[in-house]
Amino acid sequence: MKVGLSDNLKKLPPYLFAEIDKAKRQARAQGRDLIDLGIGDPDQPTPKHIIEKLYEAACDPANHRYALDQGMPALRTAIRKWYINRFRVELSQDKEILPLIGSKEGIAHIPLAFLNKGDYSLVPEPCYPPYKGGTILAGGAPFILPLKEENNFLPDLSRIPKSVLKKAKLLFLNYPNNPTSATAEAGFYENVIKFALKYNIIVLHDAAYSEINFDGYKPRSFLEIKGAKEVGIEFHSLSKTYNMTGWRVGWACGNEKVVAALAKVKSNIDSGIFSAIQLAGVAALSGPGEYVDTMCKLYQRRRDLLVDGLNQLGWQVNKPKATFYVWARLPKKYRSSIKFSQMLLEKTDIVLTPGCGFGKSAEGYVRMALTASEDKIKEAVDRLKKII
Ligand SMILES: *Cc1c(COP(=O)(O)O)cnc(C)c1O
Repeated sequence: MKVGLSDNLKKLPPYLFAEIDKAKRQARAQGRDLIDLGIGDPDQPTPKHIIEKLYEAACDPANHRYALDQGMPALRTAIRKWYINRFRVELSQDKEILPLIGSKEGIAHIPLAFLNKGDYSLVPEPCYPPYKGGTILAGGAPFILPLKEENNFLPDLSRIPKSVLKKAKLLFLNYPNNPTSATAEAGFYENVIKFALKYNIIVLHDAAYSEINFDGYKPRSFLEIKGAKEVGIEFHSLSKTYNMTGWRVGWACGNEKVVAALAKVKSNIDSGIFSAIQLAGVAALSGPGEYVDTMCKLYQRRRDLLVDGLNQLGWQVNKPKATFYVWARLPKKYRSSIKFSQMLLEKTDIVLTPGCGFGKSAEGYVRMALTASEDKIKEAVDRLKKII
């Protein structure tokens, strides 16, 4: 049989990490001692009280049936309270909060609610890949907004051509940012809101890393800014905050109409999150906050070891205020991020992520994840002496 792929599927960008992944597998098979700074996935376990809640809830037959599409009231209540405590933002738990099977699920599906053929999503680059993928699968086109270091990795909205603005329906944003670890402040968001109102563009802010922060810095929610709820929503996730990437719990919240449109798409695709996992999510959000503080301190120690170590080697790298990523310009004698990453793996057994995997705008950079132990990070700095 001839298996014909849809035009949209064929348009998806190629998976640029494939070569690095292959080299990594080969190195592992040879028994080499890899230090993996490539993975954007917490290495620490989910806190115990959350696992215990899952076990208890999984034993209750009431949780074995289809969950409600819009999420259990208990989870929406926990999310509402968490937003008040953390950001002083009030949300209607019936109209303005929608649990997701991981925020990626909602991010990838939301373009189906708003894009017609020929419409644009405005997508910052480098970025989390589903902003582009979801747009293309919905038949739209991403219009790339390069994030430049000289602009603190914020998009320059004034440079978007009028012809694009006419057909742009969505603007994706992500602060604290993966991969650049950049943060955004109120003034930027205020401009975004003005821009969104002027051109009638829905703002989708991905706040997956808002709780991974250092040195007393506390990232804001987009929804804290006056007028934000008028123009958009925020995506959030338990994945990074509570080391729950495999559990698949996130949510969208904010503008009622946007939330309802996403809910309508989802009601045709999935049937909600396993109820026991939702109840474990309630335990996460309403449980003691010191787990998150302890984890941030752990990442902060790793950050200091890595960045101070690299700077001592003469590789000038900035300390991030949030996220567990260090985004570094290549050392002076190197140009290509993929070649640098391959060379590093070959000569030092260190894995990191080449910038070009996040799009053309990120060439010349690499991402290092703070998801390896302090010992491994010290060892990595030591090995890097050989090549810098
Ligand atoms: C990890 C991550 C997410 C979270 O995805 P989940 O599907 O909730 O696990 C969202 N956005 C970005 C930028 C991320 O890096």
